[in-house]
Amino acid sequence: MFPQIFLVMGPPGTGKTTQAQTLAQNLGSPHLNTGDLLYYAAQGNDPAAQDIKKAMEKGEMVDEKITEQLVEKYLYEHENSEHIVVDGFPRTLEQAQMIKFPITKIFYLKVGDVTVKERLSKRERHDDTPELIEKRLKVYHEETEPILDFYRQKGILEEIDGDRTVEEVARDIEKKASSS
Ligand code: AMP
Repeated sequence: MFPQIFLVMGPPGTGKTTQAQTLAQNLGSPHLNTGDLLYYAAQGNDPAAQDIKKAMEKGEMVDEKITEQLVEKYLYEHENSEHIVVDGFPRTLEQAQMIKFPITKIFYLKVGDVTVKERLSKRERHDDTPELIEKRLKVYHEETEPILDFYRQKGILEEIDGDRTVEEVARDIEKKASSS
């Protein structure tokens, strides 16, 4: 039996990591955040680590191969879990097509660009400068949004109104996850 995989998607600054964490806690399942996974992988001195670091500092996507390998490794390490909650992946159609594990459901947090910029400007992350926020939003619209149709056509996309309180959004996701 494969784990049930739940993906939490949405533009940067929609609170997807917080929601993914809450869902994982409620399900008692592991939570993979690819931003964190890549951040740790960037700490080494090897060439791959340096490449990851450079991409992250510029607000660009990390190399497909490196990302896919790290994600696959994580999924196989947790293949005996009942569920796995993932956020930050996939971010491109290629990444969406390479996942070998079946995806149960995608929770897509819908939030407008204005709210995103407002929320991100309040965070204190080193890659949340106005220029990098613009860059990450642009990358999101160009490369990540096309994935939504891919999942919509498969009938597993759940659109969630992200312009509500953290608790309201969490309750909505929890309800929809338990009916899967
Ligand atoms: P996040 O915390 O999800 O905003 O991710 C922070 C940074 O990590 C991004 O700006 C990318 O440089 C990198 N990253 C995270 N997930 C991926 C992914 N699936 N593919 C490529 N790069 C990623």
